[in-house]
Amino acid sequence: MAARSGSPTAAPTDPRLIADWTRRLQSVDPAVAHLLHGLVAELAPALADHFYDGMLQDPRANRFLDPGQVQARLKPSMQRWLHQLVQADAAAVEALHQLQEHVGQVHARIGIPVDLVGRGMRLLKERMHEGIASGAGSHAEALAASLQLDGLFDLALESMTRAYTRSREAAGELDGSFRLFSLIQNVGTERERQRALLLAWENTLLYALTAEQPGPLEGLLLSRSEFGLWFLHKGLASFGETSETRQVGELAERIDAALRERLPPATSAAGRRVLLDDIRGWTAAIRDLVGILFEGIGDLESGRDALTRLLNRRFLPTILRREVALQASTGRQFAVLMLDLDHFKAINDGHGHEAGDRALQHVAAILVENTRGSDYLFRYGGEEFVAVLGSVSQTEAVAIAHALRRAISGAPLALSDGTRLQLSASIGVAVQDGHPDYERVLARADAAMYQAKRAGRDRVVVADGPLPEPPGHHAGQD
Ligand code: GH3
Ligand code: MG
Ligand code: MG
Repeated sequence: MAARSGSPTAAPTDPRLIADWTRRLQSVDPAVAHLLHGLVAELAPALADHFYDGMLQDPRANRFLDPGQVQARLKPSMQRWLHQLVQADAAAVEALHQLQEHVGQVHARIGIPVDLVGRGMRLLKERMHEGIASGAGSHAEALAASLQLDGLFDLALESMTRAYTRSREAAGELDGSFRLFSLIQNVGTERERQRALLLAWENTLLYALTAEQPGPLEGLLLSRSEFGLWFLHKGLASFGETSETRQVGELAERIDAALRERLPPATSAAGRRVLLDDIRGWTAAIRDLVGILFEGIGDLESGRDALTRLLNRRFLPTILRREVALQASTGRQFAVLMLDLDHFKAINDGHGHEAGDRALQHVAAILVENTRGSDYLFRYGGEEFVAVLGSVSQTEAVAIAHALRRAISGAPLALSDGTRLQLSASIGVAVQDGHPDYERVLARADAAMYQAKRAGRDRVVVADGPLPEPPGHHAGQD
């Protein structure tokens, strides 16, 4: 499920880290391993308390740690993590490493400052060292056990930090692009302005070429015009490297080259007319290309899916992170609806892909009509949608889900050939339960949606009670 909701893809494991870890586990003295097992068996509950007491003293911690969650889930999870760390044998290193990576990713999604995790680890080590000092049979054994413990903690922290850094970098890029796109609010205005500027340049050229004296060449070059400057400095940066931007660049160069070669005052009036015709043709092509580019950035700018006009799923993590933070600071719950259209393949197969596309647009419009302006609607996959409903109780979220289900099944889509397409959707509802990791609420909504499918489709299922742990979730401080 993590992969469905856009987690950063796992990086290849670092063979040196795995090798070091394996070596450490292979070379450990059995007496030392035994001592560490015994200590964890005895101290795990106290260690988990100590870890979270230390964390909760930091004012930043209340952003992502909910005391109820700490008690119910995180402390037991921390205890399991401790057991796994000291019990694993060399054969389990890959799995152990992956567990740490998973923990690191969770920390990144939650936004735990990395120094806080470091502090928690230090507190655990200090407590364990005290236990070693009093439990070891000799100084030599105490030293060996302390070294082994530090080695294991350092390896775990290194694995976690590796995944943490990668996840935060990915999230940073995403946030950055979201910010950039939401900052450009006037794509429409900019498009018109640049059209007008290109036209203005063309008119200046027209006058110059029909006048007796065209005037200085520099003043006529497209690359020196306001449009040319805008394209170079802003257009390219906003549109990125595409075949359209490349073509615009080539056409602009061709125009300026033609002006340089063919404009000299000696050119005859007829020669100027030909030049003007050429340039007007190239300019028209630039105008069309820039129109296409603006259309593309219009979708990107609003982060919208081109077919349904709903939000693109790559912004889902950004929005969920915000909602989690809002929940922590204001106590307002949010809910996630996961909606999958039923038997959609049959629509494509029976009526064609275009009818399928129209059905998706039809459903998107129903979603927009039946949700509030403050809700976020995403196209999550082919015929899957996600709604993020802010400031709702579970009752309200469920009511919205039912309204959506009814609206979809109650409004068949009329096709141009007169056919009425009956649609329905299965919807999973999950209200955020105070857990700081947004993947969890998404996974719960997803699981509820699958339950709705299994129960016969065209229905709403609310996620409650414990759900099967997602893959890779067998333990760890999640
Ligand atoms: P159910 O969810 O009820 O189990 O059945 P389903 O037929 O909807 O199941 P599935 O998720 O396997 O099929 C989804 C289909 O949606 C597969 C794909 O052909 C179609 N689809 C995905 N994206 C698009 C799209 O953009 N346009 C159209 N027309 N079809 C799409
Ligand atoms: Mg599907
Ligand atoms: Mg489906």
